[in-house]
Amino acid sequence: MDDPSFAAAARIRVVLVGTQHPGNIGSAARALKTMGLSRLSLVAPERYPHADASALAAGADDVLAGASLHDTLAEAVADCRLVLGCTARSRRIALPEQGPREAAATLLAEASAGAEVALVFGRERTGLENDELQLCHGAVHIQANPGYSSLNLAAAVQVLAYELRMAWLAGAGPAAVAPDDAEHEHERDQPATHAQMEGLFGQLAETLDAIDFHKGRAPESAMRKLRRLFLRSRLDQREVRLLRGILADAQRMARLAGFQ
Ligand code: SAH
Repeated sequence: MDDPSFAAAARIRVVLVGTQHPGNIGSAARALKTMGLSRLSLVAPERYPHADASALAAGADDVLAGASLHDTLAEAVADCRLVLGCTARSRRIALPEQGPREAAATLLAEASAGAEVALVFGRERTGLENDELQLCHGAVHIQANPGYSSLNLAAAVQVLAYELRMAWLAGAGPAAVAPDDAEHEHERDQPATHAQMEGLFGQLAETLDAIDFHKGRAPESAMRKLRRLFLRSRLDQREVRLLRGILADAQRMARLAGFQ
């Protein structure tokens, strides 16, 4: 790419979920390339590949050609340590919310420190589902006209891509890492990946059942709150192992006590 020094861009992926208009996929690819970004992931697009996507990519066909295709959002972000979801309106799930500028600085700092990060965009008609937002560490909202706040999908991608570039030009990224950081990366505790967090949540749900925590109440509400708590904590891999060890013991005790 034109910006060999924008190395963190290689770890920033934009994920489009369930896109309905293929033209928007092409326009999003173009929006990314203008800002020096190149990684696009598509989750179950309605019509793709499609001539409209190629036509609107207009010279960003390389970004389109390199796009990865996935069946689910969980699969598209499995190796990410930070996932932010863009929403046109706030939902019932109270995720921590940031504006584009703050979100760009956070994403760039993480990517500059060696983490894979993702920025997720929803469907044109209905946005991101609540269970998709639950996979995110936080939400990003562009404070638009409150009476007409829903941007075109590719326009929203452009706003965020621009802010990422501005954050990089402002030096937020390069300043966040010492030059030899990569070499010492292995010595630090790595933040947990998305897949590791999902493994923890799966075991947590099983354990709560095993110890009869819910007592007839619907498990979803407690799990939603616990997900929020643990995602907000940004656990590292050792902490996830510790928690899973505790859960494994709790599961064993429940078995011994004859709960299961
Ligand atoms: N009618 C949908 C809007 C979808 S627009 C809804 O109400 O959710 C398609 C996508 O563009 C959204 O899912 C979101 O990812 C992004 N987007 C559009 N407007 C946005 C805004 N003001 N802030 C953040 N993201 C926005």
